[in-house]
Amino acid sequence: MASVIEGQHILLHIDGKIMDDQQFFEPNSTSVSLTLNSSNYPYSLSVKLTYHDYIEHIQDHKLLLVIYFLFLCGALSWGAYRLMNKPETLETLETLIASAIENEEIIPYVQPYVDKDSNMVGVEVLARWLHPSKGVINPDLFIPLAEDSGLIIPMTKSLMNQVQKKLSPHQGCFSQEFNISFNISAKHCTRSELLEDSLGFLNALSKAKVALSFELTERELIEDTREARELFDALHLHHVQLAIDDFGTGHASLNYLNLFHFDVLKIDRSFVQMVGTNSVSMHIVENLLDLAVRLDMKTVAEGVETEEQAKYLRSHGVDYLQGYFFFQPMPLDEFINTYLDVSL
Ligand code: C2E
Ligand code: CA
Ligand code: CA
Repeated sequence: MASVIEGQHILLHIDGKIMDDQQFFEPNSTSVSLTLNSSNYPYSLSVKLTYHDYIEHIQDHKLLLVIYFLFLCGALSWGAYRLMNKPETLETLETLIASAIENEEIIPYVQPYVDKDSNMVGVEVLARWLHPSKGVINPDLFIPLAEDSGLIIPMTKSLMNQVQKKLSPHQGCFSQEFNISFNISAKHCTRSELLEDSLGFLNALSKAKVALSFELTERELIEDTREARELFDALHLHHVQLAIDDFGTGHASLNYLNLFHFDVLKIDRSFVQMVGTNSVSMHIVENLLDLAVRLDMKTVAEGVETEEQAKYLRSHGVDYLQGYFFFQPMPLDEFINTYLDVSL
């Protein structure tokens, strides 16, 4: 029964004895590496593999093994990077942002905006990280992480607090209604704290004719929940206005705009920049402006950089204009020193 195949001895195990193609062995007198048991009869076959057999196998399959080995190394390195390196970096960045908020290193810059007659009627608050060694860091570099980690909420609270504290001693300088607008994240709209913070803000500045508004980007839509709708209703009840920001870049439906009763529509800079270019782009801008009029919302054109753009937008009924042509964003202190001593 037992035979020699490609130089390997196949052994037959039967009746407590082991046999190869020559003779019987006593059990345990030889070690086996692979065994195949018969399910129907009381015998099994085994083969004894030597180190030489293993080495030969490796040589026969070496290309496959090298690929397998490289893949394994790659997978292990990637796993190690994911497990140890990346979360640690993110964690470190989150910790840095958290302590920057705590230490009020994330500060309010403001960019004023004007009405049709170029009167300054309000400011948009824009976050800047005043890093002790790296200087001023723009929001694009830290807002996405603040949003992912939930730190955006304490950050917005801190900005509202700083603006309130700094404007409070200058309340007498506001002779007409002045709008202060904060950018908020959709995440914030499930929190009743937003209402409490808004009321706190308006109370602290009650001697000034301050109107508060929040800007929500069209790129991140709010979930239609009872909480969100109640919050928006309560904000409206207290005359807090809601603006849809970056309009034209996201996917807000007319139903969405009505559902949350947005009061203001901010036309994205990319459309404003189409003014004065080719006629196809101009049609898009005209359609956006038509839509805003039909929706009965106030309109703000963002990113106005030239007189031609300003003229065109005014002549097409845009209510407010914002952009470098009028004002650059500036530190709140600079705004207070430069503009609050003159009558607004
Ligand atoms: P945004 O809300 O659309 O703000 C307008 C951005 O356009 C600002 O960039 C402003 O500096 C810039 N800008 C204004 N006028 C002009 C112009 O005429 N030309 C050009 N090229 N740019 C102009 P910034 O301050 O870097 O902010 C970038 C974005 O970061 C903001 O876009 C907003 O989405 C976000 N962001 C800023 N501060 C906050 C914040 O406190 N909270 C939240 N959630 N997001 C914020
Ligand atoms: Ca904005
Ligand atoms: Ca915008």
